[in-house]
Amino acid sequence: MGYRVSRVPEDGEKITFANGKINVPDNPIVCFIEGDGIGRDIMTASKRIWDAAVAKAYGGTRRIAWMEIYAGEKAANLYDGDYLPEETFDALREFKVGIKGPLTTPVGGGFRSLNVSLRQTLDLYACVRPVKWYRGVPSPLKQPEMVDVVIFREAVEDVYAGIEYEAGTPENEKLARLLREEFGAEFFEGSGLGVKPISAFGTKRLMRQAVQYAIDRGRKSVAVVHKGNIQKFTEGAFRKWCYELAAEAFGDQTITEDELWDRYDGKQPEGKVVIKDRIADIMFQHMLLRPAEFDVLVAPNLNGDYLSDAIAAEVGGVGIAPGANIGDEVALFEATHGTAPKYTDKDVVNPGSLMFSGVMMLEYMGWWDAVQIIEAAYEKTLAQKVVTYDFARQMDGAKQVKTSEFATALINNM
Ligand code: NAP
Repeated sequence: MGYRVSRVPEDGEKITFANGKINVPDNPIVCFIEGDGIGRDIMTASKRIWDAAVAKAYGGTRRIAWMEIYAGEKAANLYDGDYLPEETFDALREFKVGIKGPLTTPVGGGFRSLNVSLRQTLDLYACVRPVKWYRGVPSPLKQPEMVDVVIFREAVEDVYAGIEYEAGTPENEKLARLLREEFGAEFFEGSGLGVKPISAFGTKRLMRQAVQYAIDRGRKSVAVVHKGNIQKFTEGAFRKWCYELAAEAFGDQTITEDELWDRYDGKQPEGKVVIKDRIADIMFQHMLLRPAEFDVLVAPNLNGDYLSDAIAAEVGGVGIAPGANIGDEVALFEATHGTAPKYTDKDVVNPGSLMFSGVMMLEYMGWWDAVQIIEAAYEKTLAQKVVTYDFARQMDGAKQVKTSEFATALINNM
C-alpha cells in the first residue's frame, strides 16, 4: 500500500498472523506515533532503550524497523489539519503492531478523543494494563511486592460507546419521552441521557483474551470485576457471560471459585486457572489490603478505567504504568498518562510508562531476552537511585536526572 506522508522502511518485513498466531520476522516493521507534549522526549528516550536491549539480546540478528505514523498535533501539521489521518489507520492495519505516546484531547464539544477513536475504529477491544512493582520504585504500600496483576479492561462498549444525548436537544427529548411513556422510567426533567451497552459478544471476546493470557503465562486466577448487584442487565450480564465463556472455551483448564472449595477443599489443582468475581467497589479495598489474592482482572470499560489508575498508583503511578490496546490482530501499545503539557520538550519527565509499554510489546512479539535485559537494567538503575523528578521527590538520597540521562544510565546498566 502507498503512503502519502509516512515512509515504509525498506529494510523491514511485515508482522503477520496465521490461525490467530503472531509471526514476527527478525526485522519487523513496527509503527510509532510520537505523541504530543512530552511525547517527543519519552519516545526518543524509550526507542534508544528498546533498540539497545534488542541489540544486546540478539547480537544484531534482530532489529526493529521503525515506521513513523502520525496522530495529534504533528499529524495536523503534516495532513492539512487532520489530527487522525486515514493513513495512520491503514498502517496499523497493515503492519499490525504499533506504539504511541500521549495525545492531546481538548476538553469540551466538537473534538472526539483521538485515543478513543483509535480504539473504536481499529476495534482494539481489550485495554491491557499490567501493574507490578519493581524494586526501588517508591510506593505508599507496606508490601508493594504483593501487587502483580494484569487488568483486561473492555475498551469499546459501556459508557465509552459514546451514545449520549445532551439535555435540551430533540434527540434527548425524544428518548426521554420514550423511556417515560413506553417504559415507565422516572428521572428528573432536563437530564442528560447516556446509554450503556454491554454485549455477550463484546464480553466474551475480552474474557477469551484474558483467560488465554492467564493460561499462557501460568497465572493462577482470573477475577471478573463488575457492579452486577446494581446494574443487573449490563454489569451483571458481563459477569454471567464471563463465566459462560470460561466454561465453554476453557472448560478443562479452568474451575470456578465455588468448585475450588466444594471439590478441591481450597487447594488449587495443577494446571487449572480459578475463575472468580468481585463487586467493583470492594475490589478497590482488596487491591489495597490483599493484593496478593489477585492475578488477572477483567472489567467493563468504566470500572476498569478507575481500577487501572488506582492500582497503578500503588506501585509508582501513571509515570511508569504501561498499557496496550489489543484487538484480534492489531495491537497498539501506549503510555497511559497524558501529554503533561507544562513539561513539553523540557527533557524531565519519567519515560517509564512508554518504556514499559514497549516491554509489553516485546513480550507480545515473543522477544523475551530483550524484555529481561530491560527489566534487570531498570532495577539496577533504581538501586543506584538514578531517577527522574517524579520519583526523586518521593525518595531520600535520589540522584535526579533528565529523561535522556535516565535512558543513558539504563542502557549503561544493560
Ligand atoms: P497528564 O498529562 O497525565 O499529566 C498529569 C500529571 O501527571 C502531570 O502534571 C505530572 O504530575 C504527572 N505525569 C504525567 N506523565 C508523567 C511522566 N511521564 N512522568 C512524570 N510525571 C508525569 O494528565 P492531564 O494534565 O490531565 O492531561 C493533559 C492532556 O493529556 C489532556 O489533553 C488529556 O486529554 C491528555 N491525555 C491523553 C492520554 C493519552 O493519550 N493516552 C491520557 C490521559 C490524558 P506533576 O505535575 O505532579 O509533575
